Amino acid sequence: MVAAILIPLSVGWMARGVLQQSQIHVAIGFGLGVLGLVFVMLQTLVAHRVRCPLCMTPPLGMKSCQKNRKARPLFGSYRLRVACAVLAKDHFRCPYCGEPTLLAVRDRRAANGNAEGLARRS
Ligand SMILES: [Zn+2]
Repeated sequence: MVAAILIPLSVGWMARGVLQQSQIHVAIGFGLGVLGLVFVMLQTLVAHRVRCPLCMTPPLGMKSCQKNRKARPLFGSYRLRVACAVLAKDHFRCPYCGEPTLLAVRDRRAANGNAEGLARRS
């Protein structure tokens, strides 16, 4: 979302700098473009690591799979709805499988295969 604003802004800023023959405006536009590309790379890296626990698709990534019929976009974006739900409600509904997922930190001992959290015997 930030990159979608920064990249056109940088192009406009560089065009303004070229028209006014101002090197500082071109440099600011170039900096905004680089910052936008950094945001795109960070978003791509983070979005592909987060996966739905049921269907294992990345709900924040760009997939061309068919969405669930219960999935509703927010301002035309399914990813924006998932991101807002994660930030505001601590749970989200996967746009691909439609299952709600509660965000909770796993207990490392319980995730080790031992439900009581006791140390494993070897
Ligand atoms: Zn899913």
